[in-house]
Amino acid sequence: MSAGKSFYVTTPIFYVNDVPHIGHAYTEVAADVLARWHRQAGDRTWMLTGTDEHGEKILRTATANGATPQEWVDRLVESAWKPLLDTIDISNNDFIRTTDARHEDNVKKFLQHLYDAGFIYTGEYEGSYCVGCEEYKQDSDLVEGTGEFAGEKVCAIHSKPVENLHEKNYFFRMSDFTQPLLDMYEANPNFVQPESARNEVIQFVKQGLNDLSISRSSFDWGIKLPWDDSHVVYVWFDALLNYITAAGYGYDEEKLASLWPATHIVGKDILRFHAVIWPAMLMAAGVEVPHQVYGHGWLLVGGEKMSKSKLTGIAPNDITDTFGSDAFRYYFMSAISFGQDGSFSWEDLSARYQAELANGFGNLASRTLAMVTRYFDGVVPAAGELTPSDKAIADVVAAAAVEADAAIERLAIHDAVTSIWTIVDALNGYITEQEPWALAKDPANAGRLATVLNTATEGLRALAVLLSPFMPQATQKLWSALNVEPSLGALTAQPIREAGKWNQVPIGTTVGALEALFPRIESSAE
Ligand SMILES: [Zn+2]
Repeated sequence: MSAGKSFYVTTPIFYVNDVPHIGHAYTEVAADVLARWHRQAGDRTWMLTGTDEHGEKILRTATANGATPQEWVDRLVESAWKPLLDTIDISNNDFIRTTDARHEDNVKKFLQHLYDAGFIYTGEYEGSYCVGCEEYKQDSDLVEGTGEFAGEKVCAIHSKPVENLHEKNYFFRMSDFTQPLLDMYEANPNFVQPESARNEVIQFVKQGLNDLSISRSSFDWGIKLPWDDSHVVYVWFDALLNYITAAGYGYDEEKLASLWPATHIVGKDILRFHAVIWPAMLMAAGVEVPHQVYGHGWLLVGGEKMSKSKLTGIAPNDITDTFGSDAFRYYFMSAISFGQDGSFSWEDLSARYQAELANGFGNLASRTLAMVTRYFDGVVPAAGELTPSDKAIADVVAAAAVEADAAIERLAIHDAVTSIWTIVDALNGYITEQEPWALAKDPANAGRLATVLNTATEGLRALAVLLSPFMPQATQKLWSALNVEPSLGALTAQPIREAGKWNQVPIGTTVGALEALFPRIESSAE
């Protein structure tokens, strides 16, 4: 892919009442790696995240905590959600809150537009409503209760009884979009990915869509319908619109045109909202559908799903306090195939930290720079005539850069790491085989020693550039130690699709010392 195109990536907005756990952080890091990669490639990149702040449950918890809903959400945004982004080093360009005026005002415009166009009508609704999910449930979504709820039908997610509600509602004519959606999935096979997610969505839509109740009148913490202020808009209808209200919908058409359509990274539990309801809403409003909806898998801990509702979570700073944010980011992007379920364990994290980061990458960087310092007073020497072993390193680097970019294009983030890691493995093997410490013993081998260390230094340069989106802090330390900022510029300004070009480090550059990138962890993190 060539530089310069637009890449707008979003995460789901955080439901403020949740407690931040590694599931939230996982989605954020994936979107952030994609954003950093594209930014470094020179694409016009924009990453959006934010918070979902309306709804009955938030009103109830605010009241229970003696706060107004606005005070309550302000407190949670500042104390929990913005700090999470710092904890895991997220480089978002924007943070939208569904209580922002830019959101509320333009949700109203969107709704009025749909109402005027005849896509919204008044009806009666009766059904089983789960307050936890804030949605009406189909019978197929309910299961037999256990314990105190034995004999009752309960929400499969919350294990609590549903309420039978009967209300006058406004409805969105979603059923009109059954065939247009199926046609769109057909015409655009990449719209929903991965393939398993796409198949599930198509099967669901093929059964035919019902119209969607989009208003509530039993509480008032939400965005009022512009034509009937006794109703607030259904929270999902409100929340989904963040992706365009943040991008200028309704107030900055130029901005919207430059950013939209987006790539949405979502957990597979909210795939249908994004791949069915959302494009139907956009079609009704005459707005282009998203570029892609990508549903990633569950994180499993001890075999159990990290649930957004059951709060079984591990706080991200439980991990980063010990291992650092780079290791967090690297681990979740490399150990789990993006798009599939994956297991987290402290043992696996510790083992990979030690083997791959400390011994693999960190040690390679520190010993290479130490040898340049010891044998050449820190001055990067010119290479002599290249042997097949030296050329093989340059070939591995060139291939890795191309393969990693192709993997990022198809959102196979784990494959990108695997490709880049071929450089780490090849360089470690090369140094073992070439034995620069042995070459250094005989002045007759000085030319050969220079070639080996030049090759290894050039490989480190490529690693810093390619790993920067994954591990921004460690690679910045390496970049500083390589001392190439004066000649090549800032690390984050290095064109990532050209990382495979050889001979970029100027001969004569004086490298500095490198502190341990991944220090030994003394005690178990448990
Ligand atoms: Zn529920």
